[in-house]
Amino acid sequence: MRRKILVLLGPPGAGKGTVGATLAKIYHWLLVSCGDLLREAIRKGTKTGKMARQFVEKGELVPDRLVLELIGERLQRENPVGGFIIDGFPRTLNQAEQFDHLAEGVPYAVIYLKASDDFLINRLAQRRICESCGAIYHLVNIPPRHSGVCDACGGRLIQRDDDRPEVIKNRLEVYHRQTAALLDYYRSRGILFEVSGEGKLENTINEIQEKCAL
Ligand code: AMP
Repeated sequence: MRRKILVLLGPPGAGKGTVGATLAKIYHWLLVSCGDLLREAIRKGTKTGKMARQFVEKGELVPDRLVLELIGERLQRENPVGGFIIDGFPRTLNQAEQFDHLAEGVPYAVIYLKASDDFLINRLAQRRICESCGAIYHLVNIPPRHSGVCDACGGRLIQRDDDRPEVIKNRLEVYHRQTAALLDYYRSRGILFEVSGEGKLENTINEIQEKCAL
C-alpha cells in the first residue's frame, strides 16, 4: 500500500527541513514543519506564539499541548491528495502516542536522519533561512545565487536566533534527552528507516526513495 505520511525524525541540523522540502516538491505532498508553524505563530504574536517563544529561544521543547494543537489544526485544515511530510514532530513519546490518534490509522513511515554532533554544530553555524518564505540555505553547500538574498522569493536571509552556538548546544542535549527515545519506539514497530544525514542531499533522497519504496 502506498504510504500517505512520512515523518522526518533526527537531531537539529540533520537536514529534515531541506529533505522535507525536496520530497514535497518531487511528490507534491504537503510539507508540515512544526518549527515553521511555531516560528510563524511567534512572528504573528498569536496566543500560542507568545507562550511558545521563551522555549524556542532557549532551544527547549515547547509544551506538548501547544504543539499538538498547532499540528492537529494544520493536519485537519488540508487534505492533500498525495499525503503529508511532517518535519520535526513528534519529538516526545507523548507526542508520538498522540500522533497515532491524529493519523487515524493512516500508515506512516519514519525516516531517521542520522548525523554526529560535531557535524551538526558545523552545519547549523552555516545555515541561513529566508525570513519571508523559510527556504533553507547553507553558506557553503547550498549558497544563494546572491549573497543574503533568497533565490525563491527575494527575501532577506538571516541566521535563526536558535542557531547561535550556545543555543545549538542545548538543542542537541534536548534532542538526546527527549527525542532519541522515539527511535526505539518506532524501531520496535518496524516503521523506522535509517538514512545518513551527512551526505549530499541527492544521495539522502535516493536512499529514502529506495528504503521507503517511494
Ligand atoms: P526546528 O525548526 O525543528 O529545529 O524547531 C525549532 C524549535 O521549535 C525547537 O528547538 C523547539 O523549541 C521547537 N519545536 C519544534 N518542533 C517541536 C516539537 N515537536 N515539540 C516541541 N517543540 C518543538
